[in-house]
Amino acid sequence: MSAIPRLPLTRNIRRGAAPFSRAEYEQADGYLAVRDTLGKVEPASLIALIAASGLGGCGGGGFPTGRKWQLMPGKDQRPGPRYLLINADEMEPGTFKDRLLLEGDPHQMIEGIILSAYALQADHAYIFVRGEYLTAIERLNHAIAEAEAAGLIGENILGSGFDLSVQVHGGAGRYICGEETALLNSLEGRRAIPRSKPPFPQVNGLWGCPTIVNNVETICNVPHIVRYGADWYRGLGVNGALGTKIYGVSGRVRNPGTFELPMGTPMRDMIEDHAGGMKDGYRLTAVLPGGASTAFLMAENLDVPMTFADMAKHGTRLGTGTAIVLDDKTCPVGFIANLQQFFARESCGWCAPCRDGLPWVERTLKSIEAGEGRATDLDLLLEMTGNLGPGRTFCALAPGAMASLQSGLQYFGPVFEQHIATKACPWT
Ligand code: SF4
Repeated sequence: MSAIPRLPLTRNIRRGAAPFSRAEYEQADGYLAVRDTLGKVEPASLIALIAASGLGGCGGGGFPTGRKWQLMPGKDQRPGPRYLLINADEMEPGTFKDRLLLEGDPHQMIEGIILSAYALQADHAYIFVRGEYLTAIERLNHAIAEAEAAGLIGENILGSGFDLSVQVHGGAGRYICGEETALLNSLEGRRAIPRSKPPFPQVNGLWGCPTIVNNVETICNVPHIVRYGADWYRGLGVNGALGTKIYGVSGRVRNPGTFELPMGTPMRDMIEDHAGGMKDGYRLTAVLPGGASTAFLMAENLDVPMTFADMAKHGTRLGTGTAIVLDDKTCPVGFIANLQQFFARESCGWCAPCRDGLPWVERTLKSIEAGEGRATDLDLLLEMTGNLGPGRTFCALAPGAMASLQSGLQYFGPVFEQHIATKACPWT
């Protein structure tokens, strides 16, 4: 029997090598939670366990997973197909944490799906994977075939009477498919635009049926919570937080990458101890703590624990927990313009403020960066952060895009003004 892990999500991951086969995974006590649960534990007890663990959604929102599951109507209330949908459409710039789990331990993902689907009494599961993640798609399909051959997926799994099919769906390359209702539309073969909510997918999701959409990392936690319990999971975090998290760092650090750490680890510890600190000759200016849709956290605040609540106290969000580091040799205006280019390109075009506003923001920032900005541009940009802010657009893409711009104007205002006054970028 394996020792009780402190870093459960990555315990089987051999970076740079092939993932565990089903046999290796089972040797490491994999699928034990499935064998001990299916047909032996009431699905409602499983949902209660996940709720008691406090597991939050790891896709960026942090919504309690057990609570989300409890919002799905019971099978007696809504007979017919029920779906579990795994959101693996990881396209946020700077975010690459789910890739580690998909490629590094696909059987962990499959085990989490089986247990979660059993809890929800869902008979079909789809894994919606970013289309460029070819290795992940190949490894997932291989793992599914191995699990099917072992009777862990299919009809009457392990004699429990529970049936489940699992299918991988490769995305076609649109960032908006990471929004859960656009993902539903895409999977149904429709144009990938968000749906209005309510009704929420838990009630009216894929093909009008009850559907739970969960992130990869969220589902990968499930087998461990089932195996070791809610209290064990809650005790893994630090600074008042629960569980562990796949954090990540990109930018000019010595060792960019992903790291499983106790939830609540301070940002400074991750950057200095795990990412090796800044490369020689570079100084950290600020960080986007959780991908391109989060606001800047300035260098003097690096000791903040990486939790949803602590980041909110500093005017930003934990988001996906994958930090993008801005250094002193990179122009903040160019950095933000680059992010806005991405969001402008990825606007789905459904609502006018985002469709027309984001390209305008991109052009204005690029003209300032090129030394062609006007004094009035800064007030106009600030106004745009309001016009494209929360509540002004159909989904969260545009408000997310405004996070770096709004905080950038706040923290780097003199740098913007210098570009306009000198008609040049000080970094070129
Ligand atoms: S905010 Fe942008 S991405 Fe969201 S629905 Fe409107 S146009 Fe589409």
